[in-house]
Amino acid sequence: MSTTRAVCLNCIDGRFQIPVIDWIKKQYKVDYVDMVTEPGMDGFLADVNNSIEDSVRKVSISIEKNNSQVIVVVGHEDCKGNPVSDSVHKQQIQQAVERFKEGFKDVAIIGLWMSSQFVGEVIGS
Ligand SMILES: [Zn+2]
Repeated sequence: MSTTRAVCLNCIDGRFQIPVIDWIKKQYKVDYVDMVTEPGMDGFLADVNNSIEDSVRKVSISIEKNNSQVIVVVGHEDCKGNPVSDSVHKQQIQQAVERFKEGFKDVAIIGLWMSSQFVGEVIGS
């Protein structure tokens, strides 16, 4: 029996690793979640001054070698690495999803906002 997998672009914040993994596993019925991290990942990816080449390389390995079926871009409340308002976070998540879509046309890309209470909300389409 083969396993299923997702790949996640998440903040480095340790509070949001296991809750994000649990949310993705439940939402998309996957067995494992590969994790790529950056402080304030949503803001990092949304800023066109930052190259996303390294993130793209890591996600590509997850898709090609581990057969990940979905990409999840995460932003979270009370982010020290990207201290902006919740509404700006959600805009950045959307922008990050759109930016990643250019390179991964055949894979579903989902934005996830997670509150400090670890309640997840899908952002965008
Ligand atoms: Zn953070």
